[in-house]
Amino acid sequence: MFEKELEELNQKSLLRTLRRINSAQGPRVKIDGREIILLSSNNYLGLANHPRVKEAAIRVIEKYGFGSGASRLISGNMTLHEELEERIADFKGTEAAILFNSGYTANIGIIPALVGKGDFIYSDELNHVSIIDGSRLSSAEIRIYPHKDMTVLEELLKKDKNNGRKLIVTDTVFSMDGDIAPLKDIYNLSQRYSAFLMVDEAHATGVLGSKGRGAVEHFALKGENIIQMGTLGKALGTFGAYIAGSKDLIVYLRNKARSFIYTTSLPPAVAAAAIEAINIIAEDNSLIKGLWDNRKVFIDGLHSLGFDTLSSETPIIPVLAGNIHKALEMAETLYEECIYAPAIRPPTVPEGSSRIRTTVMANHTKEDIEAALSAFRKIKNGKGSNNHRCVERTR
Ligand SMILES: *Cc1c(COP(=O)(O)O)cnc(C)c1O
Repeated sequence: MFEKELEELNQKSLLRTLRRINSAQGPRVKIDGREIILLSSNNYLGLANHPRVKEAAIRVIEKYGFGSGASRLISGNMTLHEELEERIADFKGTEAAILFNSGYTANIGIIPALVGKGDFIYSDELNHVSIIDGSRLSSAEIRIYPHKDMTVLEELLKKDKNNGRKLIVTDTVFSMDGDIAPLKDIYNLSQRYSAFLMVDEAHATGVLGSKGRGAVEHFALKGENIIQMGTLGKALGTFGAYIAGSKDLIVYLRNKARSFIYTTSLPPAVAAAAIEAINIIAEDNSLIKGLWDNRKVFIDGLHSLGFDTLSSETPIIPVLAGNIHKALEMAETLYEECIYAPAIRPPTVPEGSSRIRTTVMANHTKEDIEAALSAFRKIKNGKGSNNHRCVERTR
């Protein structure tokens, strides 16, 4: 059975494979012995390999060892978990925060804790899979609205008149398109129709807002009555996820979110690393500024080469290919040119919108960005040259 299904996927060019990185996660990585410019990581600020983040983790490993040995509610609640929760609440400007082991497990835990049978979920059609899965697990009625369509969202909210709870949930930065949800409008609708509002800040934390606090900062909202979820694994360069909000919400989730309750807590060294990552961006916003500067140079370059970057407004920059084969061919040419950015195909994106999903990082150099643009120029002008050795460049 496995073989047959895999062969079918292969026939449709939909078989997924892994690329093996044999170096630290940086703006350049080693793949197959070649030095490749990484143009697809969510490690936007380069914090995954930041000396201070590494040191913080090492210090804690020496003092506390590695594993936590149990879930938070049994004997796995360590000082560093609570310190990280306080650090996150302070960073996000909320009363409290709660940790989860990843963004995926946060979403499949929080949504069923907030709504259930007889309730309603209003979800943008481009929301992340973890939101879709969390919504399905909840048994609430799921209303999908067209991407960022506030008119339809309002119609749906108006229509559901029974006593069920309502939850609007949206990515704030959409992970495959790199555009931003109209959070002010969504917030106003949530207030008008007495709905909970939950935002997924996976790609906004450390990226949006001059201090990297996310979409709430970007739109100058107060954040009251907004359930803010985010991950520590992307711009913060570490691992895990959080919900930030009111004290009541956090205590409620401690008691109700199954993916918080029934799982071993994060290793304390991971918590220490995340605290340090937040400290770094709170002390100095030059990394965030560098990220946006690189984004501008890169997207301007792509536009002058005539590429369609869809509706990107952030360091996630899709480059439209169209069909699957074109996207795979583009990815291959990039790889020959020592650039790694994979083709994204259905079902991750809609049929006909296969693309290369690129992301820039704060610590890409000018030369890195120029090399990436020169590879895209070769795609425009027909195929690039084969067999680049991708020699190590001194940085
Ligand atoms: C990556 C992502 C997640 C999952 O977060 P992890 O910490 O990687 O599990 C959730 N939501 C969105 C929008 C994401 O992009």
